[in-house]
Amino acid sequence: MLIIFKKGYTEEQLNHAIDRVRAAKCEPHVIHGVYKVTINVIGDDTQLDPEDFKKLEGVEDVISVSKPFPLVAREFKKEDTIIQVRNVTFGPDNFIVMAGPCAVESEEQTIRIAKAVQKAGANVLRGGAFKPRSSPYAFQGLGNEGLKILATARKETGLPIITEALDIRDLDAICEFTDIIQIGTRNMSNFPLLKEVGRTRTPVMLKRGMSATIDEWLMAAEYILRGGNTNVMLCERGIRSFDSKYTRNIVDLSAIPVIKNLSHLPIVIDPSHGTGRKDAIEPMTLASLAAGAHSVMIDVHDDAENALCDGAQALKPHDFEKIMACLHSLAPALGKTIPGAKPSVRNTV
Ligand code: PEP
Ligand code: MN
Repeated sequence: MLIIFKKGYTEEQLNHAIDRVRAAKCEPHVIHGVYKVTINVIGDDTQLDPEDFKKLEGVEDVISVSKPFPLVAREFKKEDTIIQVRNVTFGPDNFIVMAGPCAVESEEQTIRIAKAVQKAGANVLRGGAFKPRSSPYAFQGLGNEGLKILATARKETGLPIITEALDIRDLDAICEFTDIIQIGTRNMSNFPLLKEVGRTRTPVMLKRGMSATIDEWLMAAEYILRGGNTNVMLCERGIRSFDSKYTRNIVDLSAIPVIKNLSHLPIVIDPSHGTGRKDAIEPMTLASLAAGAHSVMIDVHDDAENALCDGAQALKPHDFEKIMACLHSLAPALGKTIPGAKPSVRNTV
């Protein structure tokens, strides 16, 4: 049960409701959210009558939430969450394209690719400074030096930056030098990290665990919202299934309508990690737009053959530019806007 307070409520009114919740042996979790102050009643609330709470002074509404992820659920917030990242708006009317190298390899490489994706019309630059590699002998990323390079790329291009956090100890620097914290598939269930990210106010993109159900993914998002950070978007990046011969993962595009039904949070698709193959990126990207996603994230590298990470799935800037042209042609038919200029390349749709 969620007890939502009116603007201008008093501490006395809030404390009175808290006492009533405690009297029923439930735990009142008070959330000072961006939108409202809410008491999330944790425990067996069957003895509490929502109608009694609705009558209390200062209370705006009481919502019975049947889901194990109340703050993330549409039942709690009917309007779509809109996330503002510098000059870029993630919301129901826009389709935002994030692109860049899998990993930051050097300043020269990052700025070169940042300028290329910007020219093609990307809205956000991606790049990993901390890389979660399956092998401990593979390139692990440039760490803090990589964050500074990303900040330089932001200064040079004006593009907001998304980068992955692996460790709580790096969060302050990530929030200082970049704009969106990416939680990767391997860390979707790293609950201490999620709790800490929930204490920041930096927008977060939470990837789906490679074997996570939709409910597990939404409960992971709940950890972040519970901390008071409501700027969360969800990213489907492919799940593991029985046939991994031709694609790295199975991109679950049906997660788009399912998530939009269950939650108010924006949904992003990562066709690069989802499929692991260049020829699948364009069709999956166009399908993501058509299926109602809010954004996509695409690996782009101009020297993919020598990339230090995930070169096999990275598109050349020219191929990325063609996808951008297709997206710009399709978006109006679907009632979506892609902010920024349409690239001049010939449309291949
Ligand atoms: C990435 O986007 O660089 C990445 C490591 O993705 P994932 O967590 O989906 O494997
Ligand atoms: Mn990668």
